Amino acid sequence: MKKLIFTPLYFSFIQLGLISIILILLTGSCIRDKTEVSEITTSDTIFPSLSRPVVRDRWEGVGGWASSSNEHLVMSVLWYQKSAEMRALYYQAYNIARLMLNKYIAELDSSAKKAIIIDIDETLLNNSPFEAKLIETGEPYTPETWKQWTDLVNAEALPGAVEFLNYAASKNVEVFYISNRKINELKSTMINLNKHNFPYVDKNHIFLKTDEICKKKRREKVAKDYEILLLIGDNLMDFSEIFENRSDDFGFGIVDKHKEKFGNRFIILPNPMYGAWEKGLKRKKEKYPPLEEKIMTNDNDQ
Ligand SMILES: [Mg+2]
Repeated sequence: MKKLIFTPLYFSFIQLGLISIILILLTGSCIRDKTEVSEITTSDTIFPSLSRPVVRDRWEGVGGWASSSNEHLVMSVLWYQKSAEMRALYYQAYNIARLMLNKYIAELDSSAKKAIIIDIDETLLNNSPFEAKLIETGEPYTPETWKQWTDLVNAEALPGAVEFLNYAASKNVEVFYISNRKINELKSTMINLNKHNFPYVDKNHIFLKTDEICKKKRREKVAKDYEILLLIGDNLMDFSEIFENRSDDFGFGIVDKHKEKFGNRFIILPNPMYGAWEKGLKRKKEKYPPLEEKIMTNDNDQ
């Protein structure tokens, strides 16, 4: 291997390199500041309006979000909107749901009244543009901003959802939508669901939140007249009240105890953006000071 000869020419290159590095270090913060300002002032082209999905095509610009107090949502929203794995997980869930539906139908008397209970947000409808908007504005979730979004009736259907529910309807399985959207969102919710041709979109099959977050009473109402074949949602509270108290282990213990129910009676979908899982962090907030301000303000229970 040739040895590098230390000539005056090499020396001048090295000197030049060192001087450049020193200059970059001295001016780096100014350059960074300018970049951030530029990213922020052009944010209209980077961030979504409420009605269209957000997406970043390049990573180097993520610094443009650095001023948002919802910066912690960037990765989860990107994953939800841009990962093919997310689509695959939805298809997987609805494929399993179909298998189990067929199994339970075969086990029941054909005259039995059969039903599915299903959540709406992040189960059937994709609200990630709303989450993206929170990144843009830096504001926390509020019922008012949420309603502005649902009033647009622009949420897209999630992969596999329309096909699965229409398959269930074709097998005479009724669909009951139990959601913690507020009752004043009923009309917009029905319009949005109808846009995608979901079945059973009527006032007798949609139970929104009136007085309490807990869905137990609404589930019981359905159970009085129907055999409930499946419960489907992105939040453990969509399945049973047994998951409401997550205790200090984030609910791991109660999920482990009922592990045989998942992919069986309970079909769960992924939602890294928000959910009751955040309440588990809240209980432990003293151990997560950097997350406290960012996550603790989110009361989205859709
Ligand atoms: Mg949901």
